[in-house]
Amino acid sequence: MPEDRLSNPEVRVRFAPSPTGYLHVGGLRTALYNCLFARKHHGVFILRIEDTDRTRLVEGAVENLIQSLRWAGLDYDEGPGKDGPYGPYVQSQRLAIYRERADYLLQTDHAYRCFCTSERLEAMRKSIEKSKQSFKYDRTCLGLPESEVVKKVQDGVPYTIRMRVPDHTTVAFCDLVRQDVEINTANIDDQILIKSDGYPTYHMANVVDDHLMQISHVIRGEEWLSSTPKHVLLYRYFGWQPPAFAHLPLLLNPDRSKLSKRQGDVAVEDYRAKGYLSEALVNFVALLGWNPGDDREIFDRSGLVQEFSIERVNKAGAIFNLEKLNWLNEQHLRAKPSGELREWLREMLPDSGAAFSDDYLDHAIRLLRERISFPQDLLRLGSYFFQDPTTYDPEGIRKRWKEDSAAWLATLVSKMETVEAFTSEGLEVIYKEIASSLGVSNSELIHPTRLAISGLAGGPGLFELMEVLGRDTVIRRIRRALAVLSGVG
Ligand code: GLU
Repeated sequence: MPEDRLSNPEVRVRFAPSPTGYLHVGGLRTALYNCLFARKHHGVFILRIEDTDRTRLVEGAVENLIQSLRWAGLDYDEGPGKDGPYGPYVQSQRLAIYRERADYLLQTDHAYRCFCTSERLEAMRKSIEKSKQSFKYDRTCLGLPESEVVKKVQDGVPYTIRMRVPDHTTVAFCDLVRQDVEINTANIDDQILIKSDGYPTYHMANVVDDHLMQISHVIRGEEWLSSTPKHVLLYRYFGWQPPAFAHLPLLLNPDRSKLSKRQGDVAVEDYRAKGYLSEALVNFVALLGWNPGDDREIFDRSGLVQEFSIERVNKAGAIFNLEKLNWLNEQHLRAKPSGELREWLREMLPDSGAAFSDDYLDHAIRLLRERISFPQDLLRLGSYFFQDPTTYDPEGIRKRWKEDSAAWLATLVSKMETVEAFTSEGLEVIYKEIASSLGVSNSELIHPTRLAISGLAGGPGLFELMEVLGRDTVIRRIRRALAVLSGVG
């Protein structure tokens, strides 16, 4: 019963993860490219949960996945928890559908029952491994007489259903990234379609669902390329039109090995926990295998939708370069509106920083903005906006605190007490005047002042910082530093 899927010109794509417990950054890229492609073509983006491997089920994995997708701003149109015309979107809830399709393949001789025990298969696998060949089932059960098959089924002997892969046939398909792909079936095993527990394998469920859910384009990682000929054969057996395929390049560590946990984080939630912004991570993974055709690198969501095209996806493996991610994080973070940074800052401050006005926090943010790489840097680098320093950078003391620093700061303090307007411009004038009257350079006054009021040797422009902190705080801090540091230098 051939069904003409192409009568539906709509773009329908899916992200079809197996719920392994977390969203892998490679999965995020696959989801993103699918989502961008759907949005660009005003199509539909589907989330389908491929949970037919019962041995790998992880509690809470689906929720976690959905949460990570939501955090990344990848909202799906059809999928778990959302209505859609082709549900359910969780494969373990669709077993009857796969069973029916497997029966069809049995009836049309494109599949057969296999009663081989796992022990037998294991022994076979081991002996084949020794001869360094890839495993191929020896088709013992393909030759079983029908009467024997019926008897075994009646006796309740467990079995799997295997697809019949034709010998030495070239399966060709067009891949939107890799163009024409041809693979000979010589090395393709008679793939199990239904396992002895009644669950389908990935191949069976994936093909059936892609067809029934009217998927127009299958966009997925390159690791699935070698499975595609099996899928193409299944489409043929069912008399279905296959979707278009696009296999995305592998993600590599900087040493060009396959991206692995051993060399860094691979879970989206780990990046989130470290303070990476979802915009930055999304921007970063967008560039893992795709480029806009020029040297632009910073993209927001709508820019990506506008620019994305499958034609610009490369074949070559994409290197996961953490420095680039860090840079993108800085760019996105520093471009955030003050109000958003302020909210984060309040979350980090004890009691939400009740003692500080919005205005004060905005000033602090203005001075810190160009220095932060992660939201938590607002507090890490700018702690002195919120509390008096209790220690002073020893290296700063060694380099900047001279024998006369205490006396010079005392002179500055008495001037600060009387100056009318405690502003950045006013302070700059005072510093210049006092420096010249003492016969020292401006920096000989600036550095110890900074050390005294922030405890640190570096930071934003001193006069602006002093204005934001305010006269009382500045004077209190300098006095305390004088008490602690007098005699040093
Ligand atoms: N369930 C497969 C995975 O975990 C889906 C592969 C595909 O998109 O066909 O990646």
